[in-house]
Amino acid sequence: MKFGGTSVASADDIKRAARRIVAARESGKRVVAVLSARGKTTDELVNMAYEISDAPHEREMDMLLSVGERISCALCAMAIHDMGYNAVSLTGSQAGIVTDSVHTKARILEVRADRIRSALDEDKIVLVAGFQGVSGDSRDVTTLGRGGSDTTAVALAAALDASVCEIYTDVEGVFSADPRICPSARKLDVVSFEEMLEMSASGAGVLQHRSVEYARNHGVRIHCRSSFDDTPGTLVVAEDESMEQPMVTAVTHTTNEARVTITGVADEPGIAGRIFGALADANVNVDMIIQNEPVAGDRKADMSFTVSRDELRTATQVIEGLAIGDSVTADENIGKVSIVGAGMKSHPGVAAKVFQTLGDLGINIEMISTSPIKISCVIASDRVPDAVRALHEAFDLGADAVKTEDPTGVHRPTVRS
Ligand code: ASP
Ligand code: MG
Repeated sequence: MKFGGTSVASADDIKRAARRIVAARESGKRVVAVLSARGKTTDELVNMAYEISDAPHEREMDMLLSVGERISCALCAMAIHDMGYNAVSLTGSQAGIVTDSVHTKARILEVRADRIRSALDEDKIVLVAGFQGVSGDSRDVTTLGRGGSDTTAVALAAALDASVCEIYTDVEGVFSADPRICPSARKLDVVSFEEMLEMSASGAGVLQHRSVEYARNHGVRIHCRSSFDDTPGTLVVAEDESMEQPMVTAVTHTTNEARVTITGVADEPGIAGRIFGALADANVNVDMIIQNEPVAGDRKADMSFTVSRDELRTATQVIEGLAIGDSVTADENIGKVSIVGAGMKSHPGVAAKVFQTLGDLGINIEMISTSPIKISCVIASDRVPDAVRALHEAFDLGADAVKTEDPTGVHRPTVRS
């Protein structure tokens, strides 16, 4: 069971989480719970660091950030003790989460869960601080990147061979669009790993992208649900023949990307390799890339790509440093809308419908990218809400299109290798 920041924010929230954990224990289950930092704690810790230093030392940043999750776990263990149950809180390191040494965005290399197992054997409820681990090399505390408690939970579920990884959050599950801008959005009962990966990569914020990757690689079933009531949420599971495949499952969006355009790039082998090699060396993640083969006599091309807005400065500096092309410009007023659905693989005309829908609204499409189960369009950021609503409507996503036999999870789709 994993509880997000809003589910452990106040003392009452912690007690509510404790009651849920104890209820699961009482129903005969052995429970490991991963907790996030309370409310805005991690943001506050980040701010504290920047009050002291413009470039906080990364090892010390992780020492600082890992504290938030430890507070939640200790407090929740106290609440569980008061309810007459035995609980033990563990740091990521104590729980055996071994990572690489990349501070503030470490990756889990191994989970040595023996300490958790023996605590469970002693009939204890185990609380693990999310979002953190210990470097196998330096033995320093590391953190897993923002939202990383989801990955802690999935990694523990995999290591312990748990029947399910329940992610408790402040929404009812995964939705067909962001309900804050699309009132007809509907909670989805089941989503496949592949769809969820595309959704979290294109703006759905419910689950950390890496946690979904980890779940897919290890076949961990995720049940994403509300910590405030008992209604079943969304199951994220391996695709299975019995699963209905709607053509489109969800509309996602982001407004936190920016575009860099380089004009007058020479049409020669090796140029793109230099540009994106330099960006990779600077740890900049590139999303969409567009380049046309030039047709004009001078054989010069324009190239555009998108990056997350907080990496825009680094990206433009890197490109300017390369002195490739005539000019480098940045556009921060872009947004991206995407439609995701496993069924579009076998349905022609989906892209046409997306483009027509946007065209009918007078929305100009500035960039397009596709995968077998996703179509993304870059548009002006102020048109994103209209685009999301129109696409949701055009593909009929508000209707009760997808029904599953048993959203609570008794039905276990087989894991395909
Ligand atoms: N507390 C960390 C964050 O705010 C990790 C998490 O909540 O998953 O990003
Ligand atoms: Mg989160």
